[in-house]
Amino acid sequence: MESPFARWRVLSDAAARKKYEAYVKEADANIGAFLEFDAGRPEGRPGGCLEGVPFAVKDIIAVKGFHLTCGSKILQNLVSPYTATAVEKLAAEGGIVVGKTNMDEFGMGSSTDNSALGKTNNPWDGRRVSGGSSGGSAAAVAAGMVPFALGSDTGGSVRQPAAFCGVYGLKPTYGAVSRYGLVAYASSLDVVGVCACSVGIARDVFELMRGQDEKDQSSLDPGPDAPGPDAKVIGVLGGDLGLDPAVERAYRAAIGFYKSKGFELKEITLAMAEYYVPVYYTIATAEASANLARYTGIRYGYRPACAENPEELTRRARSEGFGDEVKLRILLGTYVLRSGFQDQYYQRAQRLRQAIRADFDNAFTRADVILTPVFPTQAFLRGQGGLDQFQQKLADRFTTAANLAGLPAFSFPAAVEDGLPVGMQFLAPAFGEARLFEVVRLYEENFPRPLPPRYKPEWS
Ligand code: GLN
Repeated sequence: MESPFARWRVLSDAAARKKYEAYVKEADANIGAFLEFDAGRPEGRPGGCLEGVPFAVKDIIAVKGFHLTCGSKILQNLVSPYTATAVEKLAAEGGIVVGKTNMDEFGMGSSTDNSALGKTNNPWDGRRVSGGSSGGSAAAVAAGMVPFALGSDTGGSVRQPAAFCGVYGLKPTYGAVSRYGLVAYASSLDVVGVCACSVGIARDVFELMRGQDEKDQSSLDPGPDAPGPDAKVIGVLGGDLGLDPAVERAYRAAIGFYKSKGFELKEITLAMAEYYVPVYYTIATAEASANLARYTGIRYGYRPACAENPEELTRRARSEGFGDEVKLRILLGTYVLRSGFQDQYYQRAQRLRQAIRADFDNAFTRADVILTPVFPTQAFLRGQGGLDQFQQKLADRFTTAANLAGLPAFSFPAAVEDGLPVGMQFLAPAFGEARLFEVVRLYEENFPRPLPPRYKPEWS
């Protein structure tokens, strides 16, 4: 049987770009036309299965010859001289990068409104955010432009926009996919992930990207004791989770579904949950303040119009080049790292991170996978009626845990409530991606990816 990827094979010759532009204009009509990849998928490793298939890449992942803006004015004119390992691997299978996607500046945010290069509307409702920071990638998949798009996830940035746009979003185990070519935000948390229009595509793209890479010393292959694909016991969270009613209903519905399929549902307590957000924002900002020190305006990036000396040049490049949220986080990061106070903030956060890891080790002795919401709300409105930057940070309480503990997590569309998708996620022990794909695939069989209503883009 022909692979459903065939639907996307429009790009195998030199006229590719032109054709694609026309194709994007038809994206609306294409929504829903995509067939489940698994139907025609050959057994085993799907070598060559991406031949001529277009995909998009978050603009924080390097692709030679494409811009690498990271959603920032400071890198607005930077063209990447090299390609990330994850993209190289997909290109080697015949996949074609057709564009870079918008994002919150340097991955900092939950809306994609923190981009210096414009906002990305949610394909379900143009007044709402697409989520972030990989909002462009999730929106491109939801709008039918590409079957998958790469993103990065430091604290939820693939899973949360996937949930807001109604697509699948994988955050792999830390180190499973090479970070070579991923611009660093918080290096001990960053992973390359994927937004996809089906579980099968998320799985196959992950299988193609994964593996140890000599260019990233933190990358590694799974050991012989990697968890198997079978799950019988699902851990669920009890108590008041502070969810919006629509999200609460979807969580209950997902639990009900797995119960009806014969899984054992076990209520678990994650004792460290109240620390996820403070620990995440301490460690992520500390690492960001060090990682973003490289943007000096001297060797590359934004140059102020004039400066008397190198110090002034750097000061002005950074003052004019970085957006408010990035500046806030650099300041927070330098604050928690300042001499004499490290023990109070940074070291303490590191100790709590160890405890969070241990808490998950313990939870996975009782459950094979853990089911949680992705975000306490659905895609929120811009401005009035939405969430402010602080509320957005507090709402990272379900996603940041997987990054702090280095675990794989997979977000999936679980319901449509009030005309908008709701995402749930499964977490598994390290290198347990196969288990995530199996368990979500069951849900997908019962509840296929919901499609946004016919949506007329503003440019048409
Ligand atoms: N919302 C998180 C933040 O603002 C997500 C970051 C990410 O995963 N890149 O930091």
